[in-house]
Amino acid sequence: MQGEHAIAYASRSLTETEKRYAQIEKEMLSIVFSATKFHRYIYGKEVKVYNDHKPLEQLFKKSLLSAPMRIRKMMIRLQWYDITVIYRKGKEMQVSDTLSRAFLQTENQHSEFDRQEDMINMLSVSIDKYAEIKSPTQTELSALHKVIIDGWPDTRSETPVEVRPYWDSRDQLSVLDGIIYKGLRLVIPPSLRGNMLELIHKSHLGMSKCKQRAREVMYWPCMNSDIDSMVINCTQCNEYQKQQPAEPLKPTPTPDLPYSFVGCDLFDFESKKYLLVVDYYSKYIDVAPLQFENAKAIIEALKPIFACHGIPVKLRSDNGPQFSSNEFKKFCASIGIESETASSKNSRKEPLGLS
Ligand SMILES: [Zn+2]
Repeated sequence: MQGEHAIAYASRSLTETEKRYAQIEKEMLSIVFSATKFHRYIYGKEVKVYNDHKPLEQLFKKSLLSAPMRIRKMMIRLQWYDITVIYRKGKEMQVSDTLSRAFLQTENQHSEFDRQEDMINMLSVSIDKYAEIKSPTQTELSALHKVIIDGWPDTRSETPVEVRPYWDSRDQLSVLDGIIYKGLRLVIPPSLRGNMLELIHKSHLGMSKCKQRAREVMYWPCMNSDIDSMVINCTQCNEYQKQQPAEPLKPTPTPDLPYSFVGCDLFDFESKKYLLVVDYYSKYIDVAPLQFENAKAIIEALKPIFACHGIPVKLRSDNGPQFSSNEFKKFCASIGIESETASSKNSRKEPLGLS
């Protein structure tokens, strides 16, 4: 369309597999299809896409990472284009609405978004567990399954009651191989939730670790509060929590000038040693290979870096023997650098330069 005038039309029918896609996936597929088809017209231009499926508009505003796997693949495909998706009611789009009922019979090709083995490989769930979730999903989450496939109503109140708790996640839900996903996480049917809670809690890692573990692979509404009520009464978890006080990170205030305050540390990469220097102002990083891991080698590696950027006022390092050695301290003092070693048992050290 240019303004309100149609320039070209395109349509195709869905493959057998695509017919089983969730509504939101079909809608997304239509955008991928038209973008690919009209590539010559739209590439490098700002393009508005009108679509009558409301959750799609929301999906484009969120991070790619929250999208279900198949949708994510389609969105990656659309990264080429400068697309804004705008919701418009079906009845306000007569042309596409009419034509969608009179599509061309095309040959069914294999769709590139059908590979489900990719999905299973990305999950840290065993094949057995996967099969175990499948059958209760069909019996207990059938209403949700239906809504995802048929498309969500426009309002929460039009949604079946048992599906309402999933309303806020509607743009992230998809169905693949009989299992419901929220993004990359499995939606656990009610009868298995107790069992899953036990699994999460098996190692008694305390509240936040339990939640973190669960959030990586599974989802159900109120999962966090279920974990809360399970862990809160557990003596073992509480013990662990006490041993591991959650110390807040202490961010380093950004200095006023570049290269006035730098941090340095050593690291190994492919069995070679390196010195890393970072400027706390610009976050600029220098890396120098080290022949030896002693103070002398570090000093020699620092000299050309300081020759390039200037001598910092302050240098922070860990309490490693090289940095706390007399030789290193003497070197710093000789060129007027105030050296500071930051290390203590109980404080979590801030990663260099990432404050
Ligand atoms: Zn516990």
